[in-house]
Amino acid sequence: MSSPPASSPPAQGARLVVIGAGAVGVTIALHLRRLGHDVTLLSSDAPGSENATSYGNAGWLSPGSVVPISMPGMWKKVPGYLLDAQGPLRLRPSSLPHIWLWLLRFVACGATRARARAIASALRPFLAGAADRHAALAAEAGVPELIQRKGLLIVYPDEAAYRADAFGWQLRRENGVRWNTLDRAALEAVCPGLSPRYGFAAQLPDGAHCADPGGYVAALATLARAQGVHFADGHVDGFVLEAGQVRGVRSSGRVVACDSIIVAAGMGARALGSMLGDSVPLVSERGYHVQVPGLAEEPPLPVMMSDLKFGITPMTGGMRAAGQVEFAPEGAPPDWRRARILLDCLRDGLPLVKIGGFSTVGHWMGNRPSTPDCLPVIGPSPSTRGVFYATGHGHLGLVSAPWTAELIGRMIGGDTVPEAAPYDPARFLRFRL
Ligand SMILES: Cc1cc2nc3c(=O)[nH]c(=O)nc-3n(C[C@H](O)[C@H](O)[C@H](O)COP(=O)(O)OP(=O)(O)OC[C@H]3O[C@@H](n4cnc5c(N)ncnc54)[C@H](O)[C@@H]3O)c2cc1C
Repeated sequence: MSSPPASSPPAQGARLVVIGAGAVGVTIALHLRRLGHDVTLLSSDAPGSENATSYGNAGWLSPGSVVPISMPGMWKKVPGYLLDAQGPLRLRPSSLPHIWLWLLRFVACGATRARARAIASALRPFLAGAADRHAALAAEAGVPELIQRKGLLIVYPDEAAYRADAFGWQLRRENGVRWNTLDRAALEAVCPGLSPRYGFAAQLPDGAHCADPGGYVAALATLARAQGVHFADGHVDGFVLEAGQVRGVRSSGRVVACDSIIVAAGMGARALGSMLGDSVPLVSERGYHVQVPGLAEEPPLPVMMSDLKFGITPMTGGMRAAGQVEFAPEGAPPDWRRARILLDCLRDGLPLVKIGGFSTVGHWMGNRPSTPDCLPVIGPSPSTRGVFYATGHGHLGLVSAPWTAELIGRMIGGDTVPEAAPYDPARFLRFRL
């Protein structure tokens, strides 16, 4: 890993521009403002917009998400998933020329127990205590009801299927995650009406969920505005640089002058990185949701179907089923068949609930900004002084936002942050997509 260019920290009261008003950017802007900086949040979309991935996610704030997506033996399961038209994974062949290198590195990153273990311990600080951090933020923003602390359920067909996941549970244990197991009778008591297919479960009492991720981001933005963060609309399309130091951000023909910028633009960080000469090798793992209106308490707590790889979350706007991973060429239109699969899974998982046809449910597609090593990109630009990245959170951007903001706050303040080494953008210096 190369060291970042020498950069004197911006003084308190420095002019900072945060690019991107998703969960990550808004949380960072709020935190930096509290540290006394002059913060402008510049984004193509308004906070809470449906266009941001932060709008439509499953809302899980799970300490158990330390288990990386890339795990030993994953490569053996992938062909089966791909051959199953109703399965949780789809790869459009036309995307392969652009992503094959990323895919190889992704499969390799968790291919041994030692590697998966290293990823899990690097993810832990984002997840442990995340429910507390989000609850405090939501309370301050006047929306305490949006962070619900009812625990989380991961359900399995039977105990043997749970035991087959033993390494994942071992990683959770090693990282301080607490859970208890439930047999069918206990599961029925906690989550009535679940399909009889599910005979065993793990319950994570410290897990929580956000009951309206878009509304939550919008509420945090309102709080940030009240605390003095400036908001500007606009798509960033260039930078003003002087002798390797950023001096301004270009957006729609105007320049916003600044001392430092934080690129928190989700998938958009890849293009912004290339404008600066940095490699931010993000690939979109596209995901979908369907939301059945009028069923806000159904099920009573979030449930992950381990076999079908999707989650059901009770949201204020209805019951949301979220999941699927689709690799498609950039800009390709959504394939709503993926959302229909989620609707079928939902019917299957909760057979007693009356659910109308596809036209009666809300549906959405978003881009998980994913790195080839399952870890986010947080830290200084290898090429340009005054530029910091905060992106690449993949499946975990909502839960990870507060800890990301704390790391960025320390970096901007000039601290060395040794525990952020695994997220250093410089690790991708020689990896270009
Ligand atoms: C189906 C699904 C389920 C998920 N479930 C969960 C979950 O349960 N828990 C969890 O923690 N995570 C979950 N995630 C992942 C999570 O949603 C993302 O990691 C997170 O939303 C990323 O947030 P972000 O702020 O980095 O990006 P975004 O929310 O995408 O925001 C990026 C912002 O940057 C702006 N932008 C981009 N480019 C530019 C530019 N050039 N100029 C100006 N602005 C720009 C965009 O307009 C947007 O507002 C899920 C994702 C999906 C798809």
